[in-house]
This record gives sequence, structure tokens and C-alpha cells, in this order.
Amino acid sequence: MPGSLKTEAIVLRSIRYGEADRVLHLYTPGFGRVGAIAKGVRRTRSRFGGRLEPFFRLALVLYEGRGELLTVTSAETVAAHARLRDHHACLDGAARACDAVARLFEAGDPNPAVYHLLANQLALLDAQPECAGRANQLCFRIKLLLAAGLAPQLEACASCGEREHLSGFSGAAGGVVCSSCEASAFVLDEAAHAFMTGALGSPLAEAPDAPERALRQAERAIGETVEHHAGVRLRAAAAG
Ligand SMILES: [Zn+2]
Repeated sequence: MPGSLKTEAIVLRSIRYGEADRVLHLYTPGFGRVGAIAKGVRRTRSRFGGRLEPFFRLALVLYEGRGELLTVTSAETVAAHARLRDHHACLDGAARACDAVARLFEAGDPNPAVYHLLANQLALLDAQPECAGRANQLCFRIKLLLAAGLAPQLEACASCGEREHLSGFSGAAGGVVCSSCEASAFVLDEAAHAFMTGALGSPLAEAPDAPERALRQAERAIGETVEHHAGVRLRAAAAG
């Protein structure tokens, strides 16, 4: 049914199209991932100004015609996250966060919690650039898993329920495993386990940090969980 719809959205990607247009990959609270085209946006006198760029949080009016893409008819800035663009680490963190959302969630799969998590992540990188880095990215991802219903089990062995001797992590089992069940698991240090539990239990801005070795293990745990249960590969959480 053709018509207009109003929605907030975060710009995940913005791609040049033709002479003056842009194709936008958006994430919205009520519709999930949405593709839209903005016409004439690259003309100097465009009414959209420079706000159809990645990491902008916008209030949009979109026209739904017969094509696959919606058409942007109006765009107001909710948050530009201008300071985020001054720091390479923040830009990088924002790009990896948007990429993870784009990979994990398909079009037509709305998840308001994901929208708010991404909005919080971008606001945090904008307000506190010192937060950017691998630990922040992994905290974001583990919360993304929670919102997707894929949170790893961390309290007890995911295979047998044992609460002691939790020394491994198995993506296939979906969480930590004990020493008798660790056949398909890799070693998960106590520091990595504590980091993941802390990341799930605290707001993004107060997320824990951990030694590099523990962060690498946490990243592997998150990556294997996503691969086994969503069939998706995520980019590295940080460069290097
Ligand atoms: Zn076990």
C-alpha cells in the first residue's frame, strides 16, 4: 500500500547513486532494516543538507511507492554525533557497530532494543571518545546478542549445567562449558568469563575492561556464538 510513514532511523550506510542521489541503509525501531533513496541530496542546495550520512540519528518521513526502496521526503536531525567524527577510534567503533547490526539483522525483522542499543553506542562514542576500543565494541556486541535472543549462557555449563570448573567456551553449546564437556570448546580464562558477565550486566558507559588476552577470548566466544546460531560472520571488533 503506497503511503508515507514517519520513523526515527540511524544511517548505517550511505551510498552515492547516480548523479545526485544517495541510497541509504537505515535501521529503524519499528521496521528494522530499511533501504531508502534520497533524491538530489548531493546538490549544493539540497534540503537534506549533510545529514544523510552514516551515524546520523534522524526523524524521517519516508514514502512507500511500488519500488523496493522507500523515498526520503523529509529528514530532521535527532543527533548528528559530530564529535564522534573527530576521532579515528570513535569513527571506527561506530562503523563496526553499524556493520554488526547490518549483518545480524535482516530486513523486516524489527527489534526496538537493537535500535536503542545502537543509539546509545553512538551517543557514547560521541560524548566519551576515550571509551572507544575493543572492550567497548565487545560489550556492544554481547548486548546485541542479548537483544537478538542469542546471549551466551555464562552461569553454568551450557552442556550439563555444572556450576564449577567452567574452563571453556563452546559456540555450538551456546556458552561456557565445564572441564568434562569441553571437547568442542576453547579455553576461556576467568578474566574473559568475568568480562563477558560484566558486559552483560552493566550499561555500555560503565562496561568493564580486560587484558588483551581475555578480550581476544571474549571476541572468539561472541564470534562463534553468532556463527553457530545466526550463520553470520562479524568483522573483527577492532583493528590490529
Ligand atoms: Zn559440563
